[in-house]
Amino acid sequence: MADAPSQSGGPVPKPWISAIHAYVPGKSAGKDGRPLIKLSANENPLGTSPKALAARDEAVAPSLYPDPDSNALRRALGELHGIDPARIICGTGSGELLAIAAGAYAGPGDEIVYVRYGFSLYDIVARRCGATPVVAPDADYGTDVDRLLALVNENTRVIFLANPNNPTGSFLPKGEIARLHAALPADVLLVIDQAYAEYVAPEDDDGGLALAAEHANVLVTRTFSKAYGLAGERVGWATGAPELIEVLNRIRGPFNLNNTAQATTVAAVGDQEFVAHSRHHNATERTRFVSAIAPLGNYGVRALPSQANFVLLLFEGALSAEAAYEGLAERGYIVRWLPGQGLPQALRITIGTAEQMDAIAAALRDMAENAK
Ligand SMILES: *Cc1c(COP(=O)(O)O)cnc(C)c1O
Repeated sequence: MADAPSQSGGPVPKPWISAIHAYVPGKSAGKDGRPLIKLSANENPLGTSPKALAARDEAVAPSLYPDPDSNALRRALGELHGIDPARIICGTGSGELLAIAAGAYAGPGDEIVYVRYGFSLYDIVARRCGATPVVAPDADYGTDVDRLLALVNENTRVIFLANPNNPTGSFLPKGEIARLHAALPADVLLVIDQAYAEYVAPEDDDGGLALAAEHANVLVTRTFSKAYGLAGERVGWATGAPELIEVLNRIRGPFNLNNTAQATTVAAVGDQEFVAHSRHHNATERTRFVSAIAPLGNYGVRALPSQANFVLLLFEGALSAEAAYEGLAERGYIVRWLPGQGLPQALRITIGTAEQMDAIAAALRDMAENAK
């Protein structure tokens, strides 16, 4: 690949960097700048564990560098999940870990495979290291293992799979994850992105952590941004074979977790009651919301099955997703409309409080009944 000559005479980005469309975060305000109730970024409507908030105030002084290896957090996570801390790496959000996993194992000429309607960051982290993103077709918005496997060839280096997936909410059961892994060559890294794992009922576990414990080519990533209610602290973690973790440690940010991030997340791990409460709230409200939306099937509005803390609604009748997005914004709510991800017919709505979900369901009913 030849670099394009610079028009201005300034530095010229690599062509694969120029091809990146920057990540689009969930918005928190309307077109007029008015702040709206934010159900666009899958944040926890219950906030944060009070124990975590208390620990945050007692973090090491900001004049001192943090523990470069996040030892206390890796120990706490290891204890909670039964994992040797040598098999754990922490990152500035799981986003950092996804990026360094791609960069450690793929580069120009290599391919990184993920499913259509997968997490939007995968395109960015694949291109950022110069690899070619390869997108497998979905199966009614879900992941089809055979369609992923059909694209694996001698250039494939990494597969990204979010389970549950964002933005669809779809979930691959344990047997399908195992089947995918079993069919992969040993030198292909399978990254199972479990950002929403805490929302999945424990009996529905997808087996990712067990695969990462047993095989050299599986990395599971997790985050404190969702069920733990700590999106602002920017903490994620990953587990895999010690050799894999050692490679990733070479290229992560040297002091990637700051003092408050470490203190807060250690206490958050210690408050599993908060996580269980978040899971229970989410399951209850998600079920209620999906039931409230079901009658709108008559108007071409349907909810995809979700195991996460959001629901993807499809608008296939007179009410368009765009009109519903605008209508919800007029009523004070911002959700996620996804034309940039090939989903102009869809809205992703984070599960909020009971009152918020009632208001949104009522607004959608009103708009669907009156759409022409
Ligand atoms: C929200 C999310 C993440 C978490 O990103 P952080 O950098 O940890 O905040 C990772 N993967 C998916 C699929 C997500 O939706």
